[in-house]
Amino acid sequence: MQFIDLASQYNALKEKIDGRIAKVLAEGNYIMGPEVEEFENQLAEYLSVKHVISCANGTDALQLVMMALGIKQGDAVFCPTFTFFATAEVIGLAGATPVFVDSDEATFNMSPEHLEAQIQEVLKEGKLDPKAIIAVDLFGLPADYNALEQIANKYNLKLIEDAAQGFGGSINNRKAGSFGDIATTSFFPAKPLGCYGDGGAVMTNNDDYAALCRSLRVHGKGKDKYDNVRIGLNSRLDTLQAAVLIEKLNAFPSELLARNKIANQYSEALAVHFETPTVPEGYVSSWAQYTLKHPSRETIMAKLKDLGIPSNIYYGTCMHMQTAFAGLGYKQGDFPIAEKLAKEVFSIPMHPYMMSDDVETIVTAVKG
Ligand SMILES: *Cc1c(COP(=O)(O)O)cnc(C)c1O
Repeated sequence: MQFIDLASQYNALKEKIDGRIAKVLAEGNYIMGPEVEEFENQLAEYLSVKHVISCANGTDALQLVMMALGIKQGDAVFCPTFTFFATAEVIGLAGATPVFVDSDEATFNMSPEHLEAQIQEVLKEGKLDPKAIIAVDLFGLPADYNALEQIANKYNLKLIEDAAQGFGGSINNRKAGSFGDIATTSFFPAKPLGCYGDGGAVMTNNDDYAALCRSLRVHGKGKDKYDNVRIGLNSRLDTLQAAVLIEKLNAFPSELLARNKIANQYSEALAVHFETPTVPEGYVSSWAQYTLKHPSRETIMAKLKDLGIPSNIYYGTCMHMQTAFAGLGYKQGDFPIAEKLAKEVFSIPMHPYMMSDDVETIVTAVKG
């Protein structure tokens, strides 16, 4: 059994994807070929956003946003401590200071209450200039953007949505990847919408940010790539990956339904034994992960392993406990909810091509 079965998806879409790849190979426009713009337009329509700027990966997408917003040394950027490293890494890479925020116990996403407390703490200390918030749609569930937008407005902060895991999720039909001032996503193969290598994108309705990101992703280009008007990156989405993504995005709506069907099956069967994932009213999750909590998760995971069922821990170490951020002076106990999650969470197989029988097998094994 696979944790995420990408081969089954390829088998289902093989003819279409092979055709797209063959076309790119025959035409030879490997960098910024027509498929890149075709995919960007398709994605903009799917998300109902004005601009999609594709790039090399989800981390670069966040870095492009840091550059476009002019985040620099002396700035405070708030982000959850319970996330993947890249969210916090790009803040440090921009020379700014990540200020971590504890999680909401029910949704695992950034706690708006604790965010506001951290903003006030930074203002009181007076050492850093609060500039932006990076919210993460953890495990596929959009963060609480109603509350986050209000806080961003109140303190005049830019709001960035890291939708690397959230792609496909929504709040009252507004799709993940369209929240905040600017949003990012990743097409890493294991993400809800993945390609066959690395890929990412920036989404925004702001014309100025979009123009900046388009310039920054090709060496800070002006009228062409030999006219360089600012320091940028080399961060383009390969034409081959765009071609794969066009077909994967066509299949995505039905995959999203399949993911939710499996998640419902899990939750119905496991609700008596576990605290199953919370999806607030009006929210849709894309189930990048199906994550449970248990104080003795190691015992459960070992049993699953014996039965040939893969499971993983996302994430066992909070950002404030990472060696790379040791210089920030945080300590164990600073973020009690996130720390408890890091000790108790484990994720079980989730992908849209899972058979009902497999779900049954996993449920039985997890229940023990
Ligand atoms: C995967 C991920 C990223 C980074 O995406 P890459 O394409 O791997 O660079 C950023 N943030 C979150 C929350 C992620 O899960």
